[in-house]
Amino acid sequence: MRIKDKKRFIIACAGLAVLLIIIIVVVLVGFNAKNTSAAAADEKQNALATNTQETSANTAVVNTENETSPVADPVASSNEAGEKVSEKVGEGITQVVNKNHSISADFKPDDLVSVDLPSTRDTQLREVAATALTGLFGAAETKGLELFCCSGYRSYETQAELYAWNVETYGVEGAELVSARPGMSEHQMGLAMDVTSASAGFDLLESFGSMPEGQFIKENAHKYGFIIRYPEGKTNITGYAYEPWHLRYVGVDVATDIYSSGKTMEEYYGVN
Ligand SMILES: [Zn+2]
Repeated sequence: MRIKDKKRFIIACAGLAVLLIIIIVVVLVGFNAKNTSAAAADEKQNALATNTQETSANTAVVNTENETSPVADPVASSNEAGEKVSEKVGEGITQVVNKNHSISADFKPDDLVSVDLPSTRDTQLREVAATALTGLFGAAETKGLELFCCSGYRSYETQAELYAWNVETYGVEGAELVSARPGMSEHQMGLAMDVTSASAGFDLLESFGSMPEGQFIKENAHKYGFIIRYPEGKTNITGYAYEPWHLRYVGVDVATDIYSSGKTMEEYYGVN
């Protein structure tokens, strides 16, 4: 090869190398940009999902505000105010929470305590309800009856999982009778406890209602501020099947009134 040709060859090689580097850089930059936009899309989708959830929770709260509700607050139109309202909704010990009256997804009582009673698992209640339940369990014990806590406070997320499991197992119609949708459970209020006994196999059975332990709480729970929230034959009003195990704390006065009247909480407060 002549010197002149050699020079040309080197220049051509260098040119090719530069071109190759430029191509690699362009490809890499393009790839990064694609990844970045994919991540952004993901983020947006997450944000959207969160917003949708929040919006529906707030909407539910606003929709469920009812003038006849015992501790009804003025209906707020903005999201911010809606959240404040929903917080109050969850705090009242006599507040009705059901299929028409919900609490927000982020509501969590700030005075939850672990229940120091015989239990099938660790569980929590609001302090006032836990103290009252200790009284009820003690009274049962004096009659030779041992009650067990089964499930107290449940977060919105736990309730969502439970409801989804029930839908999968029983279908929507069946699930609606036995499980609250997330945001519609008294368990999220920290004011409800499902109780059971050894005779019920530590399970939640309808037959618990006719067992000595079930009979005892039916006749005595109100003295400690609890009601059997979903009584027998009231499904058309409460929306739930008979649950002799589900105790709801409302305070002694209201519980005694409700017990004496034989009404459901909905009938007592005149709400749907
Ligand atoms: Zn329950």
